[in-house]
This record gives sequence, structure tokens and C-alpha cells, in this order.
Amino acid sequence: MANIIRFCVGDTLELKKTHPCGNRSFEVLRVGSEVRVRCIGCGHDMVLDRIKLEKAIRRVHTAAPETSPMTTDQ
Ligand SMILES: [Zn+2]
Repeated sequence: MANIIRFCVGDTLELKKTHPCGNRSFEVLRVGSEVRVRCIGCGHDMVLDRIKLEKAIRRVHTAAPETSPMTTDQ
């Protein structure tokens, strides 16, 4: 799969790999060519190459749905 994954600061990323603390959700702290994320489980923050990170993302939980023009309520 080569989908473009879009996320921004404040979003929560669910990654395919699990952090040593057992958590898979990471909060986005900064976005650029490198992305800074913080593990929600243990609070550890790290900087990852954006391309590598995108491959590891399972899903994105957007933090601010009101900024989205389309609100589809499933
Ligand atoms: Zn952790």
C-alpha cells in the first residue's frame, strides 16, 4: 500500500509496532521532514523520519474533527 497518510500536530497515531511499554498510540508533537511523537503510555518522546513513520502507521485519530469540512457520522 502506498497511501498518503495525513496527520498534524495533536493527532494520535496508532502504529503497527508496539512500544516497549505495551502502548501503540503516539501523540504528534511536531510535523516536518521529521516527526516528533510522544508515547501516550509512558510519555517517552522521540523523533522519527517521516517516511519511516508513515509506513508504521496503522491509523490516525484526528484530534480536532470540527476543522474538517466533512463530518461523516458512521
Ligand atoms: Zn511507551
